Amino acid sequence: MTDRTPYILEGETGDWEVVMGLEVHAQVASQAKLFSGAPTAFGADPNCNVSLVDAALPGMLPVINKGCVEQAVKTGLGLNAQVNLWSRFDRKNYFYPDLPQGYQISQFQFPIIGEGEIEVESDDGYSFTVGIERLHLEQDAGKSIHDLDPSSTYVDLNRSGVALMEIVSKPHIRSPQEAAAYVKKLRAILIALETCDGDMEKGNLRADVNVSVCRPGGYDKFRETGDFSHLGTRCELKNMNSYRFIQQAIEYEANRQIELIESGKGVDQETRLFDTTTGETRSMRSKEDAHDYRYFPDPDLLPLELQQDWVDQIRVNLPELPDQKKERFISDYGLTPYDAGVLAADYEKADYFEAVAKGRDGKMAVNWVANELFGRLNKEDLEIGDSPVSAVHLGELLDLIKSGDISGKIAKTVFDKVWNGEGAPAEIVEKDGLKQVSDTGAIEKIVDDIIAANPSQVEQVQAQKAEGHAKPKALGWFVGQVMKASQGKANPQAVNEILKAKLDL
Ligand code: ADP
Ligand code: MG
Repeated sequence: MTDRTPYILEGETGDWEVVMGLEVHAQVASQAKLFSGAPTAFGADPNCNVSLVDAALPGMLPVINKGCVEQAVKTGLGLNAQVNLWSRFDRKNYFYPDLPQGYQISQFQFPIIGEGEIEVESDDGYSFTVGIERLHLEQDAGKSIHDLDPSSTYVDLNRSGVALMEIVSKPHIRSPQEAAAYVKKLRAILIALETCDGDMEKGNLRADVNVSVCRPGGYDKFRETGDFSHLGTRCELKNMNSYRFIQQAIEYEANRQIELIESGKGVDQETRLFDTTTGETRSMRSKEDAHDYRYFPDPDLLPLELQQDWVDQIRVNLPELPDQKKERFISDYGLTPYDAGVLAADYEKADYFEAVAKGRDGKMAVNWVANELFGRLNKEDLEIGDSPVSAVHLGELLDLIKSGDISGKIAKTVFDKVWNGEGAPAEIVEKDGLKQVSDTGAIEKIVDDIIAANPSQVEQVQAQKAEGHAKPKALGWFVGQVMKASQGKANPQAVNEILKAKLDL
């Protein structure tokens, strides 16, 4: 495993480091909304999934959805976090046309989940820990639609009142790649827990990325002392829902801040939007402070009190999490911690790997899955779901290698053919006559011919043997010739043995 690579940006006046903390909004997987029984189904006609509570009619009373609370607890446990048996809902007051209540019911001072931490695997081959500050439950707002009519804005309240979990990280993230890796890992945990479907395209998982820059060493001082003044002023990049855009936006934003500081202007704390067409971030509004929202306890709701037994029961029934999967991959299949971590962090990759590895040699399976298959998918910019080689076929290919029907080298040819849609591995081997020749008679014949035709090479082998070489170099030459003559189909082990016998080694 490699070390955590420092991510340094060069300015006019010296180096800078970048620090990030993320607020991830994850839509709770639930049939009904957080405080009403209205459905959450995606794609309904506008304003059809709206109860009187969601429309904020006067006198309506919110009632907490126990299922959503359970999902939040489950998630908290999955984040190795403190579950607070006593929490409270507060009103966050602001005006927006798609917020009919005039406030959002959220949790402020007393969130349901407190501090935790998760282990994240970076793409560069190291892992790092990110502290979780809190997780709280809150309502989503409705949606304003500005582009249906030139002079009016439409409001769709279907999303109004849908339960969100806001998961706030500590500022422990230190490069654009790490930010993307963090969201990936978090998403993997949520999907494994089935507490959020992780669908970023639909906006069911989206991140506000807080970015600041400081001089090298500032972050370490912050970690030593806990004093935020060692970090720079942050800007918040709102509603990011693609790994690529997260990275682009951070890079742009960090450089923008460096330029501002170096030109003596300084950074204003504000909320910014990333424009995917220009690749730039632009100011949306200056950042409100908490007191601007006039938070106060929602008088319509009692504090939320959980029973320890109930929490323990949820803990006992937690499904396998990515980190546990990682441990299992290490112990059951003999994978390196890094390989195991990368596979386990992506449930599609993990499922694919397990389908290939089950009942087979784990190391061989990871080699083919991680190197051959993922390498090829990467190169052609394909997702695992679009892989032209199914797990069943890859497993079949491994069986053919294992049984000695084909060599590892021929297997690559077969893999290519399966990739190109020429059929199943066994079928291709049969059809194209790629079966390895293990028939010693046939190999002996080729060996005899080559020995007869190359007396000087035979002499060389004998000379090397006389010099005391246990494995004369010239033997390799013979192996190569025999393989070539058999068009790569001779079983290399048999070739070696027969050659050794015939050359008296
Ligand atoms: P707010 O609602 O004002 O955005 P939160 O406490 O919900 O406040 O979230 C603040 C986020 O900003 C956290 O993820 C935190 O880690 C991050 N953060 C705080 N200070 C910095 C900083 N100097 N640089 C980068 N991120 C920061
Ligand atoms: Mg924020």
